[in-house]
Amino acid sequence: SSEFRIERIAVIGLGLIGCSWVKGLRARGHVGFVSGYDRNLESMTLAQEAGLIDFFSEDITDVVADADLIIISVPIMAVRGVLESILASISSTAVLTDVGSVKGSVAADVKAVFGDGFTRFVLGHPIAGSERSGVLAADENLYVHHKVIITPEAHTDSKALKLVRQAWRAVGADIEDMAVEHHDEVLAATSHLPHLLAYSLVDTLANSHENKEIFNYAAGGFRDFTRIAASSPVMWRDIFSANREQILKTLDLFEHDLKFLRAAIELGDTTTVMGVLTRAKVARDHFS
Ligand code: NAD
Repeated sequence: SSEFRIERIAVIGLGLIGCSWVKGLRARGHVGFVSGYDRNLESMTLAQEAGLIDFFSEDITDVVADADLIIISVPIMAVRGVLESILASISSTAVLTDVGSVKGSVAADVKAVFGDGFTRFVLGHPIAGSERSGVLAADENLYVHHKVIITPEAHTDSKALKLVRQAWRAVGADIEDMAVEHHDEVLAATSHLPHLLAYSLVDTLANSHENKEIFNYAAGGFRDFTRIAASSPVMWRDIFSANREQILKTLDLFEHDLKFLRAAIELGDTTTVMGVLTRAKVARDHFS
């Protein structure tokens, strides 16, 4: 309901994810004043022109100083630097949250910069987005009926948790709680591996077909399978490095199964091939 209201929000990283959240809160009347910081000056100007933020500064400490809620929506490997630069300027009641696609690395960054006992950082990850990026891609309805995974830790303050949950529900999201490690394991399989495969396949095909003829016939499986390879390389470079262990684990499993399928095709073992395809189709049909 529009009764829920946060007076002052600061958004660090004015891209698709942070701006969509703020745009959604603003459109529904849940927020007073929004300040923004991005290391790219043009993103700050664009965000102000679009009415997403009321104030920006090239000095990040001005942007966070009075904020009740600080949303950190930068690429994963930039999180630690942001935390270090705001540490001395946040208020003693400010709640902080992030939107990063890997949670273990952010949890470690928070611990390293704010110390073990810091209670007002709520780790979150919206399962929504697209291959588009930047301020201009912001969509106030991006999170409607989408899941947001919150990964509370034992020391997380319950009031801080409540505020962040409310701020997500206010833009239409459904909250799910998960443990940090479990999040990174599940997302390695359902999101990180598929992105890795898509990038790798497009790269292979782009290099192996000199005249790029392949892209003229992309309406086949290629277009569907590789749409996600148009995602931000910086964002994905960071995810592949921050969740390296879990990604390698699921990649090993995949490599094993791929070799199995390859061998069956090589041997002309159509029964085995049919078995794999049938199992996969049944599994895919059963998920909505
Ligand atoms: P984006 O590229 O649209 O926005 C990121 C913004 O951060 C850019 O404006 C960039 O200039 C800024 N930035 C980079 N380094 C910075 C720094 N050191 N200080 C200040 N600003 C900096 O990307 P996005 O899609 O909004 O992704 C942001 C975060 O959201 C990432 O951590 C990503 O893992 C997570 N996420 C993305 C998606 C998705 O589908 N795009 C989904 C869920 C979560």
